[in-house]
Amino acid sequence: MKAHDGMYIGGQWRPAAGRERTAVLDPADERLLAEVPAGDARDVDTAVRAARTALPAWAATPPAGRAARIGALRDVLVARRAEFADTVTAELGSPIGFSERVHVGSPIAVAASFAELAASYPFEERIGNSTVLLEPVGVVGAITPWNYPLHQVVAKVAPALAAGCTLVLKPAEDTPLTAQLFAEAVHEAGIPAGVFNLVTGTGPVAGQALAAHEGVDLVSFTGSTAVGRKIGATAGAAVKRVALELGGKSANVILPGADLAKAVTAGVGHVMNNSGQSCNALTRMLVHRDQYEEAVSLVAAAVAGYPTGDPRDPGTRLGPLVNAAQRDRVRAYIVRGIEEGARLVAGGPDAPHARGYFVAPTVFADVTPGMTIAQEEIFGPVLSILAYEDQDEALRIANGTVYGLGGAVWAADEETAVAFARRMETGQVDINGGRFNVLAPFGGHKRSGIGRELGPHGLAEYLQTKSLQF
Ligand code: NAD
Repeated sequence: MKAHDGMYIGGQWRPAAGRERTAVLDPADERLLAEVPAGDARDVDTAVRAARTALPAWAATPPAGRAARIGALRDVLVARRAEFADTVTAELGSPIGFSERVHVGSPIAVAASFAELAASYPFEERIGNSTVLLEPVGVVGAITPWNYPLHQVVAKVAPALAAGCTLVLKPAEDTPLTAQLFAEAVHEAGIPAGVFNLVTGTGPVAGQALAAHEGVDLVSFTGSTAVGRKIGATAGAAVKRVALELGGKSANVILPGADLAKAVTAGVGHVMNNSGQSCNALTRMLVHRDQYEEAVSLVAAAVAGYPTGDPRDPGTRLGPLVNAAQRDRVRAYIVRGIEEGARLVAGGPDAPHARGYFVAPTVFADVTPGMTIAQEEIFGPVLSILAYEDQDEALRIANGTVYGLGGAVWAADEETAVAFARRMETGQVDINGGRFNVLAPFGGHKRSGIGRELGPHGLAEYLQTKSLQF
């Protein structure tokens, strides 16, 4: 697998300041794919300076000019689609079909949406005797996780560019090759030198240095709630803007009268896609007591359609987890579920293959709301089925975690589903299988974060106001 031995800073690949390196492993067979430099505070400083130098000219580029460059970036993503999909599959272990459709398809749609928004967004508004200018926040420090290695990057870079901001990206340790390929795409799209910069490295070193750097005006972070707290504290102490897209424990609420088979099939797919490593995965299925055993049987049947396999095989629907630590963590949760008395319906903690970071698709029934597996984000192919007596109890269970990122409601009619969704403490709710919308604001209530990504709301995160009175 191709890797750059440097950082993309100021429009070119430059050697790292230090000698530390990060190994990138193939999660399907544990083999070494490549090594990339692990940057430190010196690389971050060089990159932030490059972003600051490029800021005035990029901020002054008319929106149509910025839109054209984002459009060109989208075109490069399209042209290099297969290369991106192969890279995501290699370092994340995502099945190749899912990599093509979602890991690359979604960022292409997101880039296209921000190319359009940059051209059409009203960067100026009139309020009474004032003209309000919506100006770029400045230099953005973007820190991203590994679970959607291209999407998370594009969901920050495209709106930042549309707003007129410049950036430094610090991608996750496990998936730097996708980020390097993205830097190549930025270059090819003719985005001016210094507007986008890439520093690979570890979170505690390069990530911390970026979050704390005085030359960064906004820290946009996607990752775990634990790290988000630290970044929020660092940014708060520096009176710096911060956006935090954090963990989730989303509920899939199936109300009586809903199409149970359809709800179960979609719900199981939602959890098994990306090996359960989606922040908004619907990991808690809530079913009325009268339909409970029927739902358990349907779930067991649906999960049988997700055997683990080689992610490069087009027939595979469930690949490995990203790394050994993640696999061990997920298996420990499965053991905990058994110990706390949940009924194991499918899967379990045993390794399905001799090599690779695989976890068997696992389903627990008789899960009660207080159990660890019903409260904590597992981030693996593990589904819990919980029973409720009435809608109030379903709501208490759905809202009964510290998280509030995604969710779904299934009902006989939209009105009933929407009435329930209005009472949910969460940032997104899919109604009767509603599809992902790249223009709808994405982000969390409660401990799932601060701020929104995607669409006009996502663009607004990268803007600040200046009011001129007349
Ligand atoms: P993580 O928090 O461990 O790491 C995320 C990023 O932060 C990585 O780039 C990492 O290097 C960096 N980092 C780690 N420690 C740091 C520090 N002290 N200072 C600065 N940066 C640091 O998360 P992860 O394991 O890579 O990703 C999984 C998590 O991301 C899950 O909790 C998931 O729910 C969450 N997530 C949330 C969303 C969302 O939109 N809300 C989307 C995807 C993933």
